Amino acid sequence: VHGGTLVCMDAARTVARGDLLVVEGRIAALGEGVPAALAALPGGRVPESFDARGALVLPGLVHAHLHLCQTLFRGLAEHSDLLRWLRESIWPLEAAHTEASLAASVRLGACELLAGGVTCVNDMGTVHHTDALGETLAATGLRAVFGPALMDQGEGVPARLLEGAERALDRALELARRFHGAAGGRLTVSLAPRFILSCSEGLWRDVTEASREHGLLVHTHLAESPTEGGEVKAAVGSHAAPYFAAHDVLSPRFVGAHGVWLDDTELELVRRADAALVHCPGSNLKLGSGTADVRAWRRARVRCGLGSDGAACNNRLDTFAEMALAAGLSRAKHRDDPLRARDVVALATCDGAAALGLADRVGSLEVGKHADVAVIDVAQAHHAPFAERDPYTTLVYAARAADVRLTLVDGRPLYVRGGHAALDAERCVADAAREAALLLARAELP
Ligand SMILES: [Zn+2]
Repeated sequence: VHGGTLVCMDAARTVARGDLLVVEGRIAALGEGVPAALAALPGGRVPESFDARGALVLPGLVHAHLHLCQTLFRGLAEHSDLLRWLRESIWPLEAAHTEASLAASVRLGACELLAGGVTCVNDMGTVHHTDALGETLAATGLRAVFGPALMDQGEGVPARLLEGAERALDRALELARRFHGAAGGRLTVSLAPRFILSCSEGLWRDVTEASREHGLLVHTHLAESPTEGGEVKAAVGSHAAPYFAAHDVLSPRFVGAHGVWLDDTELELVRRADAALVHCPGSNLKLGSGTADVRAWRRARVRCGLGSDGAACNNRLDTFAEMALAAGLSRAKHRDDPLRARDVVALATCDGAAALGLADRVGSLEVGKHADVAVIDVAQAHHAPFAERDPYTTLVYAARAADVRLTLVDGRPLYVRGGHAALDAERCVADAAREAALLLARAELP
């Protein structure tokens, strides 16, 4: 990658003009180190070159909370708050998925994500067809943490989505045996109990034990909306964070989406357990859930990332839009001392990777790391005239997903100047339309 500005997101937050050399899927050299590393390539090999002049070269964006199974539902579940949205729309729609519709939903989302510079996702599947989710993710080329949603109880959950705790856990572990570390190490399997209202105490216990025994992440939702908080309290006698703390669910392997309504004491429980949180500002606004205080999370040194949530509650899978929202909401909440643009870019890169336990592999441009890279064109009118003076400000406030010119995962170009390498975007859109129509005909919507 030649001639761009490297925004490294390493510990020193290095920003430098220079080249980036990728050899066999890893970052082999950066900036001044590139000529020597090039000269040392066996047989004077000349690698393929991508012209990044006028562009920012970033670590690939890490999307830390997503439901690719819901991409087909974009625009189908509007004007609702969280619990109604789940009970009246999302669960009945998820229950109507087949392997084919799920794969179409995943591919459609992957097209959008890769074209927007996302290289790594943390996805919560639906209850069934998680094998198809894993196979499709492997074929897209994305790096992914994924797991089946686990649900063994709950008001409004269709029977088809309910599974006994033991069977749900068995199936998740079966998936882990098949997919954990698969696709050249790109895939990681998690356990994904959906949220307190859909999981029994026994299921949380089993999940916690299996997570500890097999080192699997626990990906769930907590403290998302006020009505959910009220129902949780009525069901288990406390809010989510104290419940999770009391049941040892909080751990360094815990990744909890939203956390909008965590108070200081609850945030302290999360911090003490070294658990991670994911900010989903677009989803929180659209479902009217509220605004998370991410500056407080960062001040408490809680590991945290950024996500859009699924396409049914956002409706974009666009990290640039989420960055702008995260920055603006923080500014509105803390006028004099909000999140800085640099912190927001960190959420979407290095911090997101750390939240998913992947910081040793991705999240920054550093020699030896996997070459997950996004190149963002900042030479257009909407970036001028000072695009490179403060690249963080440019990325958060001016850049758009459509500015992405190149997306690499493990050094493999998956999206290059408008074209996908592993996916046929036109076909993905057509398949999605066909599968979504069939799914809607199958779905038993109230
Ligand atoms: Zn979610």
